[in-house]
Amino acid sequence: MSVRFENVSFRYPGTTTGVFDIDLEIATGELLAVIGPSGSGKSTLLKLLSGFAVPDTGRILVDGKDVTHLPPHERALGVVFQSYALFPHMSLWRNVAYPLKVRGIPKTERQERARDALARVGLGDFAERAPTSLSGGQQQRVALARALVFSPRALLLDEPLSALDAALRHGMRDEIMRVQRKAGIATLHVTHDQEEALSMGDRVAVMSAGRLEQVAMPRDLYDRPASRRVAAFVGHANLWEGMVVAPGLVSTRLGELVCDTAGFATGADVIALVRPEHVVPLLELPSGPRPNVFFGHMAEDRFLGAVRRCDLEVGGGTVRIETSIRAAIAAVAVPPDAIRLLPPESPSPTRPAHTGNPS
Ligand code: ADP
Repeated sequence: MSVRFENVSFRYPGTTTGVFDIDLEIATGELLAVIGPSGSGKSTLLKLLSGFAVPDTGRILVDGKDVTHLPPHERALGVVFQSYALFPHMSLWRNVAYPLKVRGIPKTERQERARDALARVGLGDFAERAPTSLSGGQQQRVALARALVFSPRALLLDEPLSALDAALRHGMRDEIMRVQRKAGIATLHVTHDQEEALSMGDRVAVMSAGRLEQVAMPRDLYDRPASRRVAAFVGHANLWEGMVVAPGLVSTRLGELVCDTAGFATGADVIALVRPEHVVPLLELPSGPRPNVFFGHMAEDRFLGAVRRCDLEVGGGTVRIETSIRAAIAAVAVPPDAIRLLPPESPSPTRPAHTGNPS
């Protein structure tokens, strides 16, 4: 029940956009969440897996079988869309049973399997109801039951929660994860909501300009982003440009930072990443100069409930702070082990001029 993209590239005919050099494996039972800015290629990845676009180069394997040139209906994939796309005048069980009907399964078996699938999403008692009498969250659970009823080879989730309000969305995250885990099925989940991706994904893939920028477990992605682009896209970040001036010392516009410079030579340009919640607010100015302690002018100070987000202007730069401390902040300390050095931004990946498809 695994999914594999092998060196897949696809360009929309007559354009330079699409997805490029995609190597990706989703293991049996794994939920891989895909995030990235608008236009980065997330939907194109889904189209390629579902069969609505055919790669110019590379192969797509489902369960080890090459499906690259199979039409969508022969791929046996379950799909849940943002819009539930239920038939409004059909009972829930008939909606869920529809993929079985298309496959020629006899009515009694259809009914039984549809009722089982509805029970799995907690709607066993609603089988005779019409979708119009349900809430958005319930309708999305019906769509999930319908996607899984024919034991698909993989599950595709296309922004499944974005039509729901915040409270429902959180509950549905758990619900989808529970059902997906139980089904033990490889799942590709496309979302623009990074919190959803971090909380639901076994691994998260970040796309940028049609390429996979990084694929990692959520914590690794947040703590050890591979590039400035990933650091800036996933969570909030202080990103200070600088240069390694000696082993263990980086010069930035804020001043000098003591940190681990392993992997970077003296003279190398770097970007220092510090998550705002790792900056330590100090309530008093230190008596003498101390490494990695900065003070300046508080340019922004926003109370957001559980956290307070401040911007401290220091020299030529800004230190963004997230803290639950409410007292006046006199200075900040940046612990050396909270600093991660990244290579300077490479220009956006160049796209191949031509990928071999004459169209
Ligand atoms: P995302 O889902 O991350 O927003 P898409 O996969 O929709 O990104 O788009 C990737 C790139 O392909 C974008 O540059 C987009 O403009 C382009 N694109 C998407 N669909 C088409 C299309 N039907 N024809 C031409 N270009 C397209």
